Amino acid sequence: MMNNERPGLKELLREARSEGYAVGAFNITCYLSCRAAIAAANETAVPILIQTSVGTVKKFGVDELFAMMDLLRRGARVPVLFHLDHCTDPELAKKCVDAGWDSVMIDMSAKPLEENIRITAEIKKYAKNRGAGVEGELGIIKGVEEEIAADEQQLAGYEDSIKFIDGTDVDAFAPAIGTAHGLYKKAVNLNYDLVKRLSGSTAVPIVVHGGTGLTAEQFHALIRGGASKINVSTALKYAYIDGLRGYWEDHRDEYNPIKLNDAAETSVRKVVAEHILRFKPPR
Ligand SMILES: [Zn+2]
Repeated sequence: MMNNERPGLKELLREARSEGYAVGAFNITCYLSCRAAIAAANETAVPILIQTSVGTVKKFGVDELFAMMDLLRRGARVPVLFHLDHCTDPELAKKCVDAGWDSVMIDMSAKPLEENIRITAEIKKYAKNRGAGVEGELGIIKGVEEEIAADEQQLAGYEDSIKFIDGTDVDAFAPAIGTAHGLYKKAVNLNYDLVKRLSGSTAVPIVVHGGTGLTAEQFHALIRGGASKINVSTALKYAYIDGLRGYWEDHRDEYNPIKLNDAAETSVRKVVAEHILRFKPPR
Protein backbone atom coordinates (compact mmCIF):
# COMPACT_ATOMS: atom_id res chain seq x y z
CA MET A 1 0.00 0.00 0.00
CA MET A 2 1.45 3.35 -1.03
CA ASN A 3 1.88 6.10 1.51
CA ASN A 4 -0.60 8.41 -0.17
CA GLU A 5 -3.30 5.75 -0.01
CA ARG A 6 -3.05 5.52 3.77
CA PRO A 7 -5.35 7.62 5.95
CA GLY A 8 -3.89 9.66 8.80
CA LEU A 9 -4.42 8.62 12.43
CA LYS A 10 -7.41 10.90 12.99
CA GLU A 11 -9.07 9.95 9.70
CA LEU A 12 -8.63 6.22 10.32
CA LEU A 13 -10.05 6.46 13.86
CA ARG A 14 -12.99 8.64 12.83
CA GLU A 15 -13.85 6.29 10.02
CA ALA A 16 -13.72 3.32 12.41
CA ARG A 17 -16.00 5.10 14.83
CA SER A 18 -18.52 5.92 12.13
CA GLU A 19 -18.50 2.24 11.15
CA GLY A 20 -19.00 1.15 14.76
CA TYR A 21 -15.65 -0.40 15.58
CA ALA A 22 -12.38 0.54 17.28
CA VAL A 23 -8.95 0.16 15.69
CA GLY A 24 -6.64 -2.18 17.60
CA ALA A 25 -3.18 -0.80 18.29
CA PHE A 26 -0.83 -3.72 18.80
CA ASN A 27 2.63 -3.40 20.35
CA ILE A 28 5.12 -5.43 18.37
CA THR A 29 8.60 -6.23 19.65
CA CYS A 30 10.36 -7.83 16.67
CA TYR A 31 10.08 -8.91 13.05
CA LEU A 32 7.95 -11.97 13.82
CA SER A 33 5.39 -10.19 16.00
CA CYS A 34 5.08 -7.40 13.44
CA ARG A 35 4.61 -9.96 10.66
CA ALA A 36 2.02 -11.78 12.78
CA ALA A 37 0.02 -8.61 13.50
CA ILE A 38 -0.06 -7.62 9.81
CA ALA A 39 -1.12 -11.17 8.87
CA ALA A 40 -4.00 -10.88 11.39
CA ALA A 41 -5.07 -7.57 9.81
CA ASN A 42 -5.06 -9.20 6.36
CA GLU A 43 -6.93 -12.25 7.63
CA THR A 44 -9.69 -10.18 9.24
CA ALA A 45 -9.60 -7.43 6.58
CA VAL A 46 -9.58 -4.75 9.31
CA PRO A 47 -7.04 -1.88 9.51
CA ILE A 48 -4.67 -1.86 12.49
CA LEU A 49 -2.03 0.27 14.14
CA ILE A 50 1.38 -1.28 14.67
CA GLN A 51 2.65 0.23 17.90
CA THR A 52 6.26 0.45 18.95
CA SER A 53 7.32 1.17 22.49
CA VAL A 54 10.32 3.38 23.15
CA GLY A 55 12.14 0.21 24.30
CA THR A 56 11.57 -1.49 20.95
CA VAL A 57 12.72 1.63 19.10
CA LYS A 58 15.88 1.74 21.21
CA LYS A 59 16.51 -1.98 20.71
CA PHE A 60 16.65 -1.75 16.90
CA GLY A 61 17.23 1.95 16.32
CA VAL A 62 14.79 4.28 14.54
CA ASP A 63 15.87 3.62 10.95
CA GLU A 64 16.34 -0.13 11.19
CA LEU A 65 12.97 -0.61 12.92
CA PHE A 66 11.15 1.54 10.40
CA ALA A 67 12.74 -0.26 7.43
CA MET A 68 11.79 -3.62 8.91
CA MET A 69 8.18 -2.65 9.58
CA ASP A 70 7.82 -0.89 6.25
CA LEU A 71 9.03 -3.97 4.39
CA LEU A 72 6.37 -6.06 6.12
CA ARG A 73 3.69 -3.43 5.48
CA ARG A 74 4.13 -3.87 1.72
CA GLY A 75 2.17 -7.09 2.07
CA ALA A 76 -0.77 -5.39 3.82
CA ARG A 77 -4.14 -5.41 2.08
CA VAL A 78 -5.70 -2.99 4.60
CA PRO A 79 -4.34 0.27 6.06
CA VAL A 80 -1.56 -0.40 8.58
CA LEU A 81 -0.27 2.66 10.43
CA PHE A 82 2.87 2.91 12.55
CA HIS A 83 2.43 4.59 15.93
CA LEU A 84 5.01 5.36 18.64
CA ASP A 85 3.61 4.48 22.07
CA HIS A 86 4.19 6.41 25.36
CA CYS A 87 7.13 8.59 24.39
CA THR A 88 8.35 10.90 27.15
CA ASP A 89 11.24 12.23 25.05
CA PRO A 90 10.19 14.95 22.58
CA GLU A 91 13.41 14.53 20.58
CA LEU A 92 12.79 10.82 20.03
CA ALA A 93 9.18 11.52 19.03
CA LYS A 94 10.44 13.97 16.41
CA LYS A 95 13.00 11.45 15.14
CA CYS A 96 10.26 8.86 14.63
CA VAL A 97 8.11 11.41 12.78
CA ASP A 98 11.09 12.22 10.56
CA ALA A 99 11.75 8.53 9.91
CA GLY A 100 8.19 7.93 8.71
CA TRP A 101 6.03 6.87 11.67
CA ASP A 102 2.43 7.87 10.86
CA SER A 103 1.82 9.10 14.40
CA VAL A 104 3.40 9.41 17.83
CA MET A 105 2.11 9.48 21.38
CA ILE A 106 3.82 12.13 23.45
CA ASP A 107 3.23 11.20 27.07
CA MET A 108 3.67 14.21 29.32
CA SER A 109 1.00 12.98 31.71
CA ALA A 110 3.37 13.03 34.66
CA LYS A 111 3.78 16.81 34.24
CA PRO A 112 1.37 19.49 35.47
CA LEU A 113 -1.53 20.18 33.07
CA GLU A 114 -0.15 23.43 31.60
CA GLU A 115 3.22 21.86 30.85
CA ASN A 116 1.60 18.72 29.42
CA ILE A 117 -0.45 20.95 27.10
CA ARG A 118 2.54 23.07 26.08
CA ILE A 119 4.86 20.18 25.16
CA THR A 120 2.11 18.12 23.50
CA ALA A 121 1.05 21.13 21.41
CA GLU A 122 4.67 21.65 20.36
CA ILE A 123 4.97 18.04 19.12
CA LYS A 124 1.57 18.32 17.44
CA LYS A 125 2.81 21.33 15.46
CA TYR A 126 6.01 19.52 14.48
CA ALA A 127 4.18 16.36 13.43
CA LYS A 128 1.41 18.18 11.57
CA ASN A 129 3.96 20.01 9.41
CA ARG A 130 5.31 16.61 8.38
CA GLY A 131 1.97 14.92 7.82
CA ALA A 132 1.97 12.85 11.02
CA GLY A 133 -0.56 12.61 13.86
CA VAL A 134 -0.19 12.95 17.64
CA GLU A 135 -1.81 11.24 20.62
CA GLY A 136 -1.72 12.86 24.06
CA GLU A 137 -2.51 11.56 27.54
CA LEU A 138 -4.13 13.10 30.57
CA GLY A 139 -4.21 11.57 34.05
CA ILE A 140 -2.13 8.64 35.23
CA ILE A 141 -2.67 5.12 33.92
CA LYS A 142 -1.63 2.58 36.53
CA GLY A 143 0.87 -0.20 35.87
CA VAL A 144 4.18 -0.58 34.11
CA GLU A 145 4.77 0.43 30.50
CA GLU A 146 8.47 -0.27 30.06
CA GLU A 147 10.31 2.68 31.62
CA ILE A 148 7.12 4.32 32.88
CA ALA A 149 5.75 2.87 36.10
CA ALA A 150 2.81 4.26 38.05
CA ASP A 151 1.60 2.86 41.39
CA GLU A 152 -1.35 5.14 41.78
CA GLN A 153 -3.84 5.96 39.12
CA GLN A 154 -5.16 9.47 38.65
CA LEU A 155 -8.32 9.60 36.58
CA ALA A 156 -8.75 12.37 34.03
CA GLY A 157 -11.53 14.87 34.71
CA TYR A 158 -13.92 16.29 32.12
CA GLU A 159 -12.98 19.98 32.41
CA ASP A 160 -9.24 19.28 32.28
CA SER A 161 -9.78 16.95 29.33
CA ILE A 162 -11.53 19.69 27.37
CA LYS A 163 -8.77 22.12 28.27
CA PHE A 164 -6.18 19.60 27.07
CA ILE A 165 -7.97 18.82 23.80
CA ASP A 166 -8.52 22.51 23.00
CA GLY A 167 -4.98 23.46 23.98
CA THR A 168 -3.18 20.74 22.03
CA ASP A 169 -5.39 19.93 19.01
CA VAL A 170 -4.30 16.27 19.36
CA ASP A 171 -5.47 13.72 16.78
CA ALA A 172 -6.24 11.15 19.48
CA PHE A 173 -6.80 11.60 23.20
CA ALA A 174 -6.03 9.08 25.94
CA PRO A 175 -7.73 10.02 29.21
CA ALA A 176 -6.99 7.82 32.23
CA ILE A 177 -10.37 6.09 32.73
CA GLY A 178 -9.41 3.31 35.13
CA THR A 179 -7.69 0.85 32.80
CA ALA A 180 -4.14 -0.27 33.63
CA HIS A 181 -1.03 -1.54 31.89
CA GLY A 182 -0.16 -5.19 32.48
CA LEU A 183 -2.61 -7.78 33.82
CA TYR A 184 -5.61 -6.91 35.98
CA LYS A 185 -5.50 -8.45 39.44
CA LYS A 186 -9.05 -7.47 40.35
CA ALA A 187 -12.23 -6.19 38.72
CA VAL A 188 -11.82 -2.88 36.90
CA ASN A 189 -14.01 0.17 37.36
CA LEU A 190 -14.16 2.09 34.13
CA ASN A 191 -15.23 5.67 33.67
CA TYR A 192 -17.58 5.03 30.72
CA ASP A 193 -19.22 8.39 31.39
CA LEU A 194 -16.10 10.37 30.57
CA VAL A 195 -15.68 8.50 27.26
CA LYS A 196 -19.32 9.19 26.37
CA ARG A 197 -19.25 12.84 27.44
CA LEU A 198 -16.03 13.56 25.56
CA SER A 199 -17.09 11.81 22.39
CA GLY A 200 -20.44 13.59 22.60
CA SER A 201 -18.93 17.04 22.99
CA THR A 202 -15.67 16.88 20.98
CA ALA A 203 -14.59 15.37 17.66
CA VAL A 204 -11.31 13.99 18.98
CA PRO A 205 -10.95 10.19 18.82
CA ILE A 206 -10.70 8.60 22.28
CA VAL A 207 -8.00 6.03 23.08
CA VAL A 208 -8.18 3.23 25.64
CA HIS A 209 -4.85 2.04 27.06
CA GLY A 210 -4.36 -1.25 28.87
CA GLY A 211 -6.64 -3.35 26.65
CA THR A 212 -5.24 -6.71 27.82
CA GLY A 213 -7.69 -8.52 30.07
CA LEU A 214 -10.83 -6.41 29.63
CA THR A 215 -13.96 -8.41 28.84
CA ALA A 216 -15.76 -8.30 25.50
CA GLU A 217 -18.62 -6.49 27.28
CA GLN A 218 -16.24 -3.83 28.60
CA PHE A 219 -14.71 -3.34 25.16
CA HIS A 220 -18.14 -3.11 23.57
CA ALA A 221 -19.40 -0.57 26.12
CA LEU A 222 -16.29 1.58 25.59
CA ILE A 223 -16.61 1.39 21.80
CA ARG A 224 -20.33 2.16 21.86
CA GLY A 225 -19.46 5.10 24.11
CA GLY A 226 -17.08 6.42 21.46
CA ALA A 227 -13.65 4.84 22.03
CA SER A 228 -11.99 4.32 18.66
CA LYS A 229 -8.43 3.15 19.43
CA ILE A 230 -7.65 0.33 21.84
CA ASN A 231 -4.08 -0.48 22.85
CA VAL A 232 -3.01 -4.07 23.36
CA SER A 233 0.53 -4.88 24.43
CA THR A 234 0.68 -7.41 27.28
CA ALA A 235 -1.46 -9.98 25.43
CA LEU A 236 1.06 -10.04 22.55
CA LYS A 237 3.99 -10.50 24.92
CA TYR A 238 2.25 -13.47 26.55
CA ALA A 239 1.26 -14.95 23.20
CA TYR A 240 4.82 -14.69 21.92
CA ILE A 241 6.50 -16.22 24.97
CA ASP A 242 3.82 -18.86 25.52
CA GLY A 243 3.98 -19.82 21.84
CA LEU A 244 7.73 -20.31 22.05
CA ARG A 245 7.64 -22.05 25.42
CA GLY A 246 4.80 -24.39 24.47
CA TYR A 247 6.62 -25.55 21.34
CA TRP A 248 9.95 -25.86 23.10
CA GLU A 249 8.52 -27.91 25.96
CA ASP A 250 6.98 -30.35 23.49
CA HIS A 251 10.09 -30.57 21.28
CA ARG A 252 13.01 -30.42 23.69
CA ASP A 253 15.29 -32.47 21.43
CA GLU A 254 14.45 -30.71 18.21
CA TYR A 255 16.81 -27.94 17.07
CA ASN A 256 14.71 -26.24 14.44
CA PRO A 257 14.47 -22.45 14.88
CA ILE A 258 12.09 -22.13 11.94
CA LYS A 259 9.48 -24.29 13.63
CA LEU A 260 10.07 -22.59 16.98
CA ASN A 261 9.63 -19.16 15.37
CA ASP A 262 6.50 -20.37 13.56
CA ALA A 263 4.97 -21.32 16.90
CA ALA A 264 5.53 -17.81 18.30
CA GLU A 265 4.28 -16.14 15.14
CA THR A 266 1.14 -18.26 14.93
CA SER A 267 0.38 -17.64 18.59
CA VAL A 268 0.67 -13.82 18.18
CA ARG A 269 -1.36 -13.85 14.96
CA LYS A 270 -4.23 -15.66 16.70
CA VAL A 271 -4.28 -13.29 19.66
CA VAL A 272 -4.22 -10.21 17.43
CA ALA A 273 -7.01 -11.57 15.21
CA GLU A 274 -9.13 -12.34 18.30
CA HIS A 275 -8.73 -8.78 19.57
CA ILE A 276 -9.49 -7.23 16.18
CA LEU A 277 -12.77 -9.17 16.05
CA ARG A 278 -13.60 -8.28 19.66
CA PHE A 279 -13.30 -4.58 18.78
CA LYS A 280 -16.28 -4.79 16.45
CA PRO A 281 -19.35 -4.98 18.67
CA PRO A 282 -22.53 -6.49 17.18
CA ARG A 283 -24.93 -3.72 16.12
ZN1 LIG B 1 -0.48 2.80 27.45
